[in-house]
Order: sequence, then structure tokens, then C-alpha cells
Amino acid sequence: MVESSGMPIVPRLLRDMSAVGLVAVDKRMNVVLWNRFMEMHSHLSAAEVEGRNLFDCFPELPQAWLEKKLKTIMLLKNTAYSSWQQRPYLFKFPNVSSVTSEAEQMFQDGSFWALRDESGQVQGACISIHDVTEFAIAQQLLEEAAEQTLNLEEISYRDALTGLYNRRFFDEQIRHEMQRARHFGWDFSLAMVDIDFFKKVNDTYGHDAGDEVLKGVALTLLKELRASDTLCRFGGEEFVMLLPKVNRDNVQEIADRLLDSVRAAQVDAQEATISVTISLGISQYREGVNGEQLLKEADKALYISKTGGRDRFTLFDPDDAAFQ
Ligand code: GH3
Ligand code: MG
Ligand code: MG
Repeated sequence: MVESSGMPIVPRLLRDMSAVGLVAVDKRMNVVLWNRFMEMHSHLSAAEVEGRNLFDCFPELPQAWLEKKLKTIMLLKNTAYSSWQQRPYLFKFPNVSSVTSEAEQMFQDGSFWALRDESGQVQGACISIHDVTEFAIAQQLLEEAAEQTLNLEEISYRDALTGLYNRRFFDEQIRHEMQRARHFGWDFSLAMVDIDFFKKVNDTYGHDAGDEVLKGVALTLLKELRASDTLCRFGGEEFVMLLPKVNRDNVQEIADRLLDSVRAAQVDAQEATISVTISLGISQYREGVNGEQLLKEADKALYISKTGGRDRFTLFDPDDAAFQ
């Protein structure tokens, strides 16, 4: 079908199309088609652009990349696609969407294909430009919202796997406990707990079973504690406890109870029943020590429990050279 001007109707329709950008170039990258969409957004008419080299008209185009892409599709007679996620835009057009004022530039998806004549010979390449600004902005807003949710989780006080308090909470809680101890003259103890040979549990039964054991140990410890105690997952297979009013006189009884109950617990995990033991290192609040120091002391004591054979507790003694 041919119009009176001699121009086939289909290319005329493409030329008038204002919803999608269409640009065609010959093999030397001279523009042979610049449609209505491209005119509207570049503010350059077809008469101003057609016949000229594409990269001379639009020096901001990524020439090396685009030229290579167009030459490849002309050679291979195939099509290619460029998403706004890899490259936000090809032609730097201002955003005109009334819905999304957040973007300055129009986000664009582009597709590329070889332009062939009736005999199938490649004569050039065609580029289509789709304005995806609204979609891109919506997507970015969604991603930001997801990120904020993650941040919220991060600042919350719970460990996702065990449901216990996390280290962030511990850091705050120990400061309160210090203040109370100072103010009321209370004793308090800090216990570091580390599961023995936990790596072996993972290696033998798998990581998921390891997770079940972590949950099981957390629950077992929790059951043994008083309402005023605080149990946190410190990280990995380590836990830390703040035990108000626990001193030299009653610490052994509590430590033994914790060791006994973990040793006796059986965790059903991934068709296996798993038992583990823990080692404990305990330090005690004294005037003049800070939280960090108490943690270090408990860690030193824990090390002694580990090297001494595991499944036991050690009380840090500031006067004992073994802990220095
Ligand atoms: P030790 O008695 O000396 O403490 O030996 P261990 O094997 O318990 O100690 P090690 O520090 O070598 O290994 C700890 C392991 O805990 C290694 C790590 O893969 C595992 N782990 C840490 N966090 C998690 C977790 O969230 N889930 C699981 N399944 N494993 C974890
Ligand atoms: Mg450890
Ligand atoms: Mg361990």
C-alpha cells in the first residue's frame, strides 16, 4: 500500500508514533528515520537530524558501546536489548511524566534490530526507545522501602534465628546493669557461653540441623534463667548472659545447672537427635571495671574452660596469673 506522497503507510505510521521512539541509521550511522517521539523529546525535527551522523547530533550518546552494538546486530542480523537497570537512558531527554517528578531524566529501555530491504540485505539498524520512567521510579521507591525495612530489622533488638536479644540489646543492657550495680551496690555476673565443637555438628548433620541446635540451646538456657536475667545471642554459636545478684557464693550452682540442662537436652533436627555441651566463662562486676573489661575477662575464662576440656565453667579471678 502506497500513499499519494509515495511513502508506504506503515513507515508513515511509525514516523508519526509519539508513544515509542524510533531511530533508524544506515551502515555509516547516518540517521534515516527520526520519528515524532524523538522530535518531541529532543526538540529537534526530523529535518534537522535525518541525513546527519547520529553521534555528531548527540555527542552524549555512549558511542563506543552503541556503535559496537549496532554493528554487531547488523552483522549477525539479530536483535538486542538494553534495560534502564543497566543503563538508565540512551538519549538524554528530560523527564516529562506528570506522575513522577522525582526523576530529572527520562529512564529508557532500548531495543535494537537490523534493518533489511526486500531482498533481505542489511541496510542499517533501528533503535526503539521506550519511556519507562514511571516504572523505574516505582521500582526505586520499592527498593528504598525494602532497604528501610531491613534497617529497621537491623536496629531492632532481636536475633532472627533464635528470637533471643541480640548484641545491640546486650550493649545497652550491660550499661543499665552497671548503673544498677553501682547505684544499689548489687553484684552481677556476666557469662559467656560457647557451644562445644559446633562446627562438627554442622559438618555432620548440615547447617540447617546446626540452626535447630542453636535454637534448642537458646531455649534450654532461657528455661534456666530467672526473669531478671538477660540472655543474648552474641554471634555465631556464642551467647552471653547478664546475671544480676549472682556472686561468688551462688555462681557455681547456676553454672552447673546450665551445663547439666544443655548436656541433657536432645534436639530433634533433620531426622537426627543431637546433643551438645557448652563451655562457660564467667566474670563478676567489681567497682572500677567497665562492660568491655567484663566481657574480656569472661572470654579469658571461657578460653580456660575450652582448653581445660570443655563442658565446664571457669570463673575469672583477677588475682590469678593464669588469666593474665
Ligand atoms: P569450640 O568447641 O572450640 O568452640 O569449637 P567450635 O567448632 O564450636 O568452634 P568454631 O568457632 O570453630 O566453629 C563455630 C561454628 O559455628 C562455625 C560456624 O560455621 C558455625 N556457625 C556460626 N553461626 C552459625 C549459624 O547461625 N548457624 C549454623 N548452623 N552454624 C553457625
Ligand atoms: Mg565460638
Ligand atoms: Mg564453639
